[in-house]
Amino acid sequence: MSIREWDQDAIRRDFPVLRREVNGRPLVYLDNAATSQKPVQVIAELTRYYRDYNANIHRGVHTLSQEATAAYEAVRDRVVAFIGARAPEEIVFTRNTTEAINLVAHAYGRAFLQPGDEVVITELEHHSNIVPWQLLRDERGVVLRYVPMLADGTLDMAEARRIIGPRTKLLAVTQMSNALGTIVPVAELAALAHQHGTVVLVDGAQSVPHLPTDVAALGADFLVFSAHKMLGPTGVGVLWARGELLEAMPPFLGGGDMILTVTMEHSTWNAVPHKFEAGTPNIADVIAFGAALDYLAALGMDAVCRHERELLGVALERLATVPGITLYGSADLDARGGVVSFGLEGIHPHDIGQVLDGAGVAIRAGHHCAQPVMQHYGIAATARVSFYLYNTLAEVDALVAAVHEAARFFGRVRV
Ligand code: PMP
Repeated sequence: MSIREWDQDAIRRDFPVLRREVNGRPLVYLDNAATSQKPVQVIAELTRYYRDYNANIHRGVHTLSQEATAAYEAVRDRVVAFIGARAPEEIVFTRNTTEAINLVAHAYGRAFLQPGDEVVITELEHHSNIVPWQLLRDERGVVLRYVPMLADGTLDMAEARRIIGPRTKLLAVTQMSNALGTIVPVAELAALAHQHGTVVLVDGAQSVPHLPTDVAALGADFLVFSAHKMLGPTGVGVLWARGELLEAMPPFLGGGDMILTVTMEHSTWNAVPHKFEAGTPNIADVIAFGAALDYLAALGMDAVCRHERELLGVALERLATVPGITLYGSADLDARGGVVSFGLEGIHPHDIGQVLDGAGVAIRAGHHCAQPVMQHYGIAATARVSFYLYNTLAEVDALVAAVHEAARFFGRVRV
């Protein structure tokens, strides 16, 4: 525990939505991999901006604009501290992880990758770390290769060592699978990639909200993540990149704020990171994201991670007792985050989700935007539980009881 003791009740009081009932039962929110809930501190910061100093940033001489600019830029500094970056110039605000990956595929990929160059991704990726590279392949003739996964949902590292080589110009890999919770040894992959001069993008959409992050230790060149999965508002993503890369890359979107000068013939670019933030950014939500970062930093990411791992251990052990259940993912708790993907024999995951919703338990059912993972197992979907810092052991009890109920209910319907 870092600054304050882990006080589960106090934490839960910070999240007003957790007091609600769903279908007459207390809400048990277990869809955190899709998006997290927001504490009052974040909601208050958002309101304060609109109420007290709403103004456009960077170009204003008036007080409100200067206050808004200072608040917005201060969040860049908080991101730097949160991920162990070197300077605010390395932090670009985007709309989300997806936009950050597309930014890299456009600005870096189109400028620096040649036909025949290899981009390596993995079978574990979210669609947002697959499709931008497929688009680049189709447009530029780069070769897209996949590191396969093993049956337990971990990456085939022997294949990774075989596939990543001198032709690999870019490796784009998730640090945590949203479908299975697998934690990928990205530092090892990055070290391997760097032996061949390969640039490494880490998709931290699932890892940065749940694990301590240090970009220097990761060894990545790009790291991307979304505020909304880490207590912050929707509409804010982060691209961290090594400063030299941002300097070398051409802009992604053109427009206001990203230029230094514009004539009718041509334009020159603003300094990084502004070169990559065209137009009015999501000022309010970036500012509120600052409160989310403060909240997580005060708890300490080690403590967040420990808490989720405790819930995961209990959930896995108890769910294993449900008749007809298949639990996907590694048995090694150190190799996974707080995600449980499962199926019940003969029951569609959507039906599981429906029965659980009836008990107030919110989970996700579907392909989780990771269809290659589903294809690996020859299934269309799984039911997925994902924990966060406000979840409790009592909620694990409610989950397990509801899954038992689903198994009984559909078992009865079948006969
Ligand atoms: N990568 C991973 C691993 C994810 O889990 C997600 C969100 N489910 C994304 C990328 C995309 O994030 P966003 O929708 O915020 O762009």
